[in-house]
Amino acid sequence: MPELPEVEIVCRGLNEAFVGHRLTGVIRRFGQLRWPIPDDLERSILGAPPVEGAGILRSVQRRSKYLLLGFDTGTLLIHLGMSGTLRRLPAQAATRAHDHVDFVFGDQVLRFNDPRRFGAVLWWAGTGAGAAATGSHALLRRLGVEPFSAAFTGRLMYEATRGRKVSIKQALLAGAIVVGVGNIYASESLFRARIRPTTAAGRISRPRYDRLAVAIRETLSEAIAAGGSSLRDFVASTGESGYFQLQCFVYGRQGQPCRICGTPVRAIRQQQRATFYCPSCQKA
Ligand SMILES: [Zn+2]
Repeated sequence: MPELPEVEIVCRGLNEAFVGHRLTGVIRRFGQLRWPIPDDLERSILGAPPVEGAGILRSVQRRSKYLLLGFDTGTLLIHLGMSGTLRRLPAQAATRAHDHVDFVFGDQVLRFNDPRRFGAVLWWAGTGAGAAATGSHALLRRLGVEPFSAAFTGRLMYEATRGRKVSIKQALLAGAIVVGVGNIYASESLFRARIRPTTAAGRISRPRYDRLAVAIRETLSEAIAAGGSSLRDFVASTGESGYFQLQCFVYGRQGQPCRICGTPVRAIRQQQRATFYCPSCQKA
């Protein structure tokens, strides 16, 4: 499943490849994703009658795992779901199974493929394009803060978790405090912050949350850096693991020696998800 670092790389790729270019058409082949792809998407983007500057892609931003493509007429929301990919291809490139929709930009296309169809392509009409305009969209309204925003701090996590008995790992995965901390990143960030994943979120001190905020940013930054070097010519997600070649401290290393202290790494399950930690380095 594409995770935040992968979506961030796609966002950067879209910025480089398509911003400033003019969309000339939409080819919708299969409409049924998580929600139906609107059948009047081309008309919505270009305007009817076409507006001044119709179709020029003004901006691409990421909010959590949503890609927000801003046009003068509104914003296209794309989510890669479990298996979605976006590729930049020559307009005449042959299609394959599960190519749901093409966004045609002259002689090249941005092609959305999604075998499992949990992805989404939606239109948000509104004045002003981009993240600010879509902040009130039902899908985006309740999301936690962005991990790289100034709003994400140890203090925020500390205040949001007072009195809460849920484990810190589940609190991170829920996405209501901070977005983008997927299963691997939760285990890795908690290791770096030396916090046991089962610890009740409400029992963690402010200094430990400060450390965790730093650890989350570092872990995600490293994954993005790894992804940036693995994707070049096309805008894509691998559609496979969704995780870049992160050098893991604990994730997937059950029974192997902790890279810091040598204690065997332990694996448990929390809410049906695998959790890995070092029983010596990480304190409850
Ligand atoms: Zn250790």
